[in-house]
Amino acid sequence: MSQFNSLSVTELNELHQTLQEKYNAFKGQGLKLDMSRGKPSSQQLDLSNGMLDVLTSEDSQKAADGTDVRNYGGLDGLPETKQFFAEILEVRPEEIIIGGNSSLNMMHDTIARALFHGVPGSEKPWSALPKVKFLCPSPGYDRHFAICELFNIEMIIVDVTEEGPDMDLVEKLVKEDEAIKGIWCVPKYSNPEGITYSDEVVDRLAKMETKAIDFRIFWDDAYTIHHLTDTPDQLKNILSTCKEVGTEDRVFIFTSTSKVTFAGSGIGVMAASETNIKYTQKLLSFQTIGPDKINQLRHLKFFKNQENLAEHMRKHAELIKPKFDIVLNTLEAELAGSGIASWKKPNGGYFISFNTLEGCAKKVVSMAKEAGVTLTGAGATFPYGKDPEDRNIRIAPTFPSLEELQKAVDVFCLCVKIASIEKLIAEQ
Ligand code: PLP
Repeated sequence: MSQFNSLSVTELNELHQTLQEKYNAFKGQGLKLDMSRGKPSSQQLDLSNGMLDVLTSEDSQKAADGTDVRNYGGLDGLPETKQFFAEILEVRPEEIIIGGNSSLNMMHDTIARALFHGVPGSEKPWSALPKVKFLCPSPGYDRHFAICELFNIEMIIVDVTEEGPDMDLVEKLVKEDEAIKGIWCVPKYSNPEGITYSDEVVDRLAKMETKAIDFRIFWDDAYTIHHLTDTPDQLKNILSTCKEVGTEDRVFIFTSTSKVTFAGSGIGVMAASETNIKYTQKLLSFQTIGPDKINQLRHLKFFKNQENLAEHMRKHAELIKPKFDIVLNTLEAELAGSGIASWKKPNGGYFISFNTLEGCAKKVVSMAKEAGVTLTGAGATFPYGKDPEDRNIRIAPTFPSLEELQKAVDVFCLCVKIASIEKLIAEQ
């Protein structure tokens, strides 16, 4: 395809007219398609239906140590659940807390506890300080940013490179500013960029000098086992790296089975140093008498071991890889070489991150909406919902059917072309 910016105004106008006719035809179809949220499809959810049958009223209420899962207790999780997730996260069971149905909930509560009580090493609760700031590698996960906004934590944008956050900037900022207490990281198949942090980034995060003595990395490893290929990305273990350099209290790790089994009925998990875990357990004991152990047992009886879990994740990949391919192949066919867009090709996770020309993302999203295709709001991937360059759009391909997705991407590409042409004409 020829570069759009090499076309004359007359050529651009002609192309605009042809594309507008196609767009109007789509509008007339009354489409109702959704590529906005990263939800599993019903076929993916079906993969875990067996989990609903593994517990019976007769014989399945006991955990390995004899705990009756129907009763109160087990504040930090059943021993076998901790073991299971310790293997996934490559930490020790003593470094794990099993939560309820949501890791986001655990992240929210971890920050709330830090604001009220501080974290191990804090001189004061964070809320007693004049200002608390977080570094927000962006594009990033909107719900992380929403937690900061809720608690009035000032967010500082840090660019994301192919290897992770721009570490030169991160190191400089945390070294100078005591008010910076944390950084959000989605280190593997990141939301939405799909990148995995390099070993060097992990090393630098673990090692960097921070002015705040109680600085924390919020390591949201949500997509750690969500590979799309047989050659998965490798992420260096942050907790052991921190241990090597004596900063093991610096990191809170989170994950869940929300997109492994049932979204909203999975198991949320947190991992950290034993000091952080003991401190959290103490405060947690005021919040709850214990999590849902029946759900833990259900998961354990369903998966039994890591091999079965890996096989289960391969089945997820079989269902969603063709969806990623539809989006990526269509973007390639429609937009490659046009000079009006760029996008990422992830090896895992749930998203494709797409960049328009500067100033076009909002326009594309609203045009797509008018034609019946819902996309994640432009700006959602940045703090305060404001993309400074109005470029980034997060595409979530997992939920729609293959047919719906093809139509939705066709509409999307049309909108990108039309919005770009209008920008180029306005500039000439
Ligand atoms: N973390 C990331 C990076 C996510 O993308 C999502 C869901 O989209 C979550 C956390 C939510 O996880 P949970 O369902 O365990 O709260």
